Amino acid sequence: MTAKKMILAADALLTMDAANSVLRGGAVLVEDGRIGAVGTAAELAAANPGVETRVLNGTVLMPGLVNAHVHSGFLRGTAEHLPVWDWLTQHINPMHRVLQPHEAEVASQLCYAESLLGGTTTVVDMWRFMDGSAKAAEAIGNRLVAVPYVGEHPDYNYFDTLDMNEAMIEAWHRKADGRINVWVGLEHPFYSDDAGHRRAIEMAKRHDTGFHTHCSEARIEVDGFVKRYGKRPMHVLDDIGFFEAPLTMIAHGVWLDPGEIELVAGKRVSVAHNPVSNMKLASGIANVREMLDAGVPVGIGTDGEKENNNFDMFEEMKVASLLGKLRYDTVQPLDSWEVLRMGTILGARAIGLDHEIGSIEPGKRADIIAVRADTPRMTPFFADGPYFNLHHNIVHAVRGGDVALTMVDGEVLVENGVLKTADVSAIIAEIHKVAPGLFARRAAFLAQNQGDMVQWTTSN
Ligand SMILES: [Zn+2]
Repeated sequence: MTAKKMILAADALLTMDAANSVLRGGAVLVEDGRIGAVGTAAELAAANPGVETRVLNGTVLMPGLVNAHVHSGFLRGTAEHLPVWDWLTQHINPMHRVLQPHEAEVASQLCYAESLLGGTTTVVDMWRFMDGSAKAAEAIGNRLVAVPYVGEHPDYNYFDTLDMNEAMIEAWHRKADGRINVWVGLEHPFYSDDAGHRRAIEMAKRHDTGFHTHCSEARIEVDGFVKRYGKRPMHVLDDIGFFEAPLTMIAHGVWLDPGEIELVAGKRVSVAHNPVSNMKLASGIANVREMLDAGVPVGIGTDGEKENNNFDMFEEMKVASLLGKLRYDTVQPLDSWEVLRMGTILGARAIGLDHEIGSIEPGKRADIIAVRADTPRMTPFFADGPYFNLHHNIVHAVRGGDVALTMVDGEVLVENGVLKTADVSAIIAEIHKVAPGLFARRAAFLAQNQGDMVQWTTSN
């Protein structure tokens, strides 16, 4: 945490406060890693003599984006256009069987570097051997919710275990000045036996932390729940006790029906919506409108590099907006403010951090980005008046590459498109060094075990 004070000033400031206030010529005072005040540059300079003002001409300040569901990894572009079952059994799960800690750590470095460069300050990462992920976040500077990829079932004994998850909580929860939080994770409810379910919930309660799992992503999975339990997934999760955790976030929730939405809306349950992944894996279109209307906090996530294939939250917000229109066959199911809120303050609420991040308001952590407004794709840009279009441009026109500055906890991590806290080319070189080895070990495993993959839809 820096003790430095500085004033950031830009062409406009998008606060994402409760009123979606926008300040033309807005500025923010950053003090001890937090937001000290919001106003015009002149007001803040007058009230804070001697404090440096950094004028970011041609930019818009806004809260750093919250990516509510990610997996670190480096299978990008290696498993495309496949039916989900082939994708999972031939590429993803065999990768998990042979993944080594050093590879997992470099994957997180790559993920967090890409995220910060694209304006994402908070990453909810479900990944493996996350001691390395926490070290990566500690060094690179992003905010991290670490969620171990746990399989607590003999068929999935090659995933992380609840023991590893608990060790991660003890080592890293609320560390790095609170930048790193550790939740309890489960790949999927079917990746655990009943004892594992009970222990996961008990662990989240005892450590007062969140619980995250994939659920209701594909129709076949909903059928699997009905076949096993005679109920749809959210009712099963409720019966098992998953919603007794301090906060439970469901990744995907594509197939929640009205009864399930009503159920989760009355609990401490949030949903991470992953529109690109849902399209790429042909999962379906989530009922986001209904979930928001019911009061379910819905954040936006990119999902992993293998499901997306990038971590550009601006692109993800655009797709969330557009996919919503397809789902409802009308042009206005979600407006740009709602999508922007899902990418910032509502995403922060979905992970229980809205008291700290997600908007630019005094007292909150200084997780702030500056987006270029001097580009062709931001033109014309009106921050006030009858032609106001800033929110629409941010959601539908901006790309991650337009981020000029990224700040977390008051530290400038990215400036003029350059990550200051890590050598990105060295990370890329290390990935190129280790990836062939991972792929070769996976190929060797598959050559010896073809046809030996367990399918959760047939195994209890
Ligand atoms: Zn996922």
